[in-house]
Amino acid sequence: MQQVSAHVLSETGQRGSNPSIVATTAGVVVIDTAQLPSDAIALRSRAESMGRIEYLINTEHHADHIFGNYFFKGAGLVVHHQEIFDSFMVPEPPIDPYEYVREAARVHDPKGYALVPDRDTYFQDPNKAAVTFSDDLVIRLGDHTFELLHTPGHTPGQTAVFVPEERVVFTGDTVFSGCQTWLMTSDLNQWLVALDRIAGLDVDFVVPGHGPVTTPAYLRTQRATLLEWMSAVADAVARGWTREETIERIDPGAGLPVDIGLESMKEHIHTQNAGSLWDKLTASR
Ligand SMILES: [Zn+2]
Repeated sequence: MQQVSAHVLSETGQRGSNPSIVATTAGVVVIDTAQLPSDAIALRSRAESMGRIEYLINTEHHADHIFGNYFFKGAGLVVHHQEIFDSFMVPEPPIDPYEYVREAARVHDPKGYALVPDRDTYFQDPNKAAVTFSDDLVIRLGDHTFELLHTPGHTPGQTAVFVPEERVVFTGDTVFSGCQTWLMTSDLNQWLVALDRIAGLDVDFVVPGHGPVTTPAYLRTQRATLLEWMSAVADAVARGWTREETIERIDPGAGLPVDIGLESMKEHIHTQNAGSLWDKLTASR
């Protein structure tokens, strides 16, 4: 894991999202969990080697941020937004999150694959939140403050975790650093507001949902990416292009790689990004 600041470690080199550990004088806080079983178990060991895990916070309901919770049972109080709780591993066609993580484990974590519980066992206790909130929430632990900021856009329950003592914000997928942005299930207008809110924080480091740790300057790049997508699809709609034509003809951010392990999903991401945006823009005409 990468040392981001004095008491923050983040993992940006695995398939899945970027889980982090914050060590305080009164215990440890884990932010998001690793997606692959072996990685989740290693993350828990690493966190427990630094102190008792007091809280586990999730930044969004997408499977790559929450499935690993299963391997953190008994380790700290799980806290996330009510919207994350309500959408926790709920299918959003065409993706069934349980099948998605199972298949990812089969391909990328053959050893850990056997640790993926069958569907019924998993859903009996996926380790959802013991505490939920619906606006913002502040947690104080030892000498650290964790400001859980409701920043909807990428997902309805999207949460940024601001730790002022470390000058760090963990944004979840409000920021995709140097890799393809996933727009499906998003509200782009809200997302722009979320970026503005995060830009107002006094931080040195931005830990994104995917890609390398970055700085607040990258928030403007993420904003440009969203505007580029909106403009390309709005233009397509104005030209009267069908959904299929739009998917085929536009490709904002084509030069960016997909995040680790997602190479085979590149077309899926593009199709869903362009298609979902076309659906939203045409529905409002
Ligand atoms: Zn996401």
